[in-house]
Amino acid sequence: MPYNASFQCFRGCQNKFPLTEIIYECPDCGGLLQVRHDMSELQKRSGQEWRQLFDGRYMTTKWPYGSSVWGKKEMVCPEVEDENVVSMYEGGSNLFWAERLGREIGIDDLWVKQCGNSHTGSFKDLGMTVLVSMVKQMIAEGQSIPAVACASTGDTSAALAAYCAAAGMQAVVFLPKDKVSTAQLVQPMANGALVLSLDTDFDGCMTLVQEVCHKENIYLANSMNSLRVEGQKTISVELLQQFDWEVPDWIVIPGGNLGNVSALGKGFRELKEMEIVDRLPRILVGQSAGANPLYQSYLHGFDTFEPVQARETLANAIQIGDPVSREKAIQALKVFGGIVEETSEQELSDAAARADRTGLFTCPHTGVAFAALFKLLERGEVKSDDRVVVISTAHGLKFTEFKVNYHRSELLEFGVEPQLPNMPLELPATYDAVRDALFGALEKCEG
Ligand SMILES: *Cc1c(COP(=O)(O)O)cnc(C)c1O
Ligand SMILES: [Zn+2]
Repeated sequence: MPYNASFQCFRGCQNKFPLTEIIYECPDCGGLLQVRHDMSELQKRSGQEWRQLFDGRYMTTKWPYGSSVWGKKEMVCPEVEDENVVSMYEGGSNLFWAERLGREIGIDDLWVKQCGNSHTGSFKDLGMTVLVSMVKQMIAEGQSIPAVACASTGDTSAALAAYCAAAGMQAVVFLPKDKVSTAQLVQPMANGALVLSLDTDFDGCMTLVQEVCHKENIYLANSMNSLRVEGQKTISVELLQQFDWEVPDWIVIPGGNLGNVSALGKGFRELKEMEIVDRLPRILVGQSAGANPLYQSYLHGFDTFEPVQARETLANAIQIGDPVSREKAIQALKVFGGIVEETSEQELSDAAARADRTGLFTCPHTGVAFAALFKLLERGEVKSDDRVVVISTAHGLKFTEFKVNYHRSELLEFGVEPQLPNMPLELPATYDAVRDALFGALEKCEG
């Protein structure tokens, strides 16, 4: 491929490193790196030609281009040879028309991008395929990389473990003890990762994994590794493909470490530079009130950013007080007319339940996004004729404890009194009992 990319300082220091180098921070200023593509090379094709190329590959069986990430390889990671791609056919997730929920809340054109309908059940697969493929490429080129490690609130470790298992590499995952769901814990166990359950929170795991990677030549898979952003940014491209390249008005996304909103922003900006689209959507980020440093910063016009001590939240994947991608996220929000909103445990739980009542099966983080959207709609900032896309970040089945406890009214420690509980009825196995229950339910339905 004539295309090429390199790591460059996100803050603009004049340095460049090959993507095969093990480096996560700018050696001059200590800031994050980002992958910069040779835009002049990418601009040699017209927007129309790119759209046709991407559409022609989408969801085909042609290895590896049928993967919606690798179908955009030229603008994602041209350096990896096809034979080193580690893919499980990421992307191509359903764009759900939330017609009934939209009608209930007063938006005609509400959509949910189901990024959790994927191999490990969250959007983390999109970035992990790029990172693990790059490691495979580096090993093929003779580098010694004994293992790949990450700190995780659950979903990153599941994705890392699966991709490493597929490629035959050792994954090491650092998890905060008792702070991830059973499903999230069992995934890396099943995939043969070394699972470290540590007596700290995510931020504590993050500090430790960085030290271990730095000293022991282990490859770090957290989103400070900007390769993951390249895979995740394909969410922008894919949802445009699904809308026949029409740009929606709003994208709503939950934010924790803020890699995903950074990726979304990078994707759209590059699409505009490549003249694939001519305008940008607005972005709304939802945070849990217990872990809301971006929201606090937003209230101060992004002039300052203070990390917070993250409180326990049901949205455990975004329980992060010191997000690594904050500068990237803030830059994106400034360009995209971004808004940040916070949501309480009550709001996120009821929002998830309300969405479920219309056929979805919503994880708590997507609940945060919905709750944030409901607030902006109420304030009139999102209009009823806007086209709105909510990014659903994980599959609800990874969070069954959250859901069961909601319906059982057992989330009191989070201050949640469920507005939409629905418990099974325990009945004697008789015709009369069943009939009474049935008519009771139908009456409630009509009334
Ligand atoms: C990782 C994750 C998030 C947060 O994404 P960031 O890039 O950390 O902001 C949200 N929801 C789910 C389900 C996740 O796994
Ligand atoms: Zn720098």
